[in-house]
Amino acid sequence: MLTYTGDATYDLVLSIALGFALFVAVAAWFVPSPYGRFASPRFGVALDPRLGWFLMELPATLSFLYFYIRGPHRGELVPLVFLGMWLLHYGNRGFYFPLSMRVPKGQRSSFGLLVVGTGVLVTTMHGYLHADFISRLGPQYGPEWLTDPRFLVGFVVYYISFGLTLHSDSILRNLRTRAEIDSGERIYRIPRGGLFQWVTNPSYLTELTGWAGFALCTWSLAGVFIFAISAANLVPRAFATHAWYREKFPDYPVERRALIPFIL
Ligand code: NDP
Repeated sequence: MLTYTGDATYDLVLSIALGFALFVAVAAWFVPSPYGRFASPRFGVALDPRLGWFLMELPATLSFLYFYIRGPHRGELVPLVFLGMWLLHYGNRGFYFPLSMRVPKGQRSSFGLLVVGTGVLVTTMHGYLHADFISRLGPQYGPEWLTDPRFLVGFVVYYISFGLTLHSDSILRNLRTRAEIDSGERIYRIPRGGLFQWVTNPSYLTELTGWAGFALCTWSLAGVFIFAISAANLVPRAFATHAWYREKFPDYPVERRALIPFIL
């Protein structure tokens, strides 16, 4: 077992979480998570994607708040900065994103229960590992941490990435008109503009750079965990999505790469 903080429970959960990320890193190449364009009846019950996303992301906010407010450093400046970053991130991902999704009326539910169950496990561990580290077990970040190059670079990388993720998410959202949603047809179009000029999955790319920035900011293995499990999930999905677009649209831009501009 890893000894990282000296707290047996924390270190055990961290070991399980990192082990799980390793498992996903292998499994996700064989089975794309069954939601959205890769939804499949093979995996049984599915939910409306808005409900699925909401349920899957909610524990990140709840478990973070629960463990954060129990920590002795909860009132200090740097932990409060991390709390603010967290609430903004999950205000978007956990509430705004699901509520603003354009789901065709009357379509079969497309968010696999398996994804929700696994997601709940991951977001609960993620909230706990970050909050307990930041507010109780971590290095007791003093105010000087705010001028540490790791914090500064991580903060800038995180917020540039966050802004770009919002932009890409909004391009995708607007590919379906309100009238199309009402008609109940599930329409897919080629996204254009922003980072879509270079890659098929810009929001996956900036999700990953964002979590890398956050890991740098907190300088923690909790940050390494969320980066690792996101990469384990999103890298194979980026390739599968890229192949899906190329097959579906004969006029798909040939110069567009799957995930990293000009490279991958
Ligand atoms: P998708 O691009 O698959 O879907 C996002 C939304 O856009 C869905 O409503 C989808 O509809 C719609 N959409 C997608 N492509 C098109 C298109 N070509 N035409 C019309 N509508 C389209 O993204 P994900 O759902 O996989 O991810 C959403 C966000 O969550 C991303 O920012 C991602 O980075 C993040 N994420 C993070 C993870 C992590 O581990 N940290 C894991 C997964 C996602 P439909 O559902 O009908 O396909």
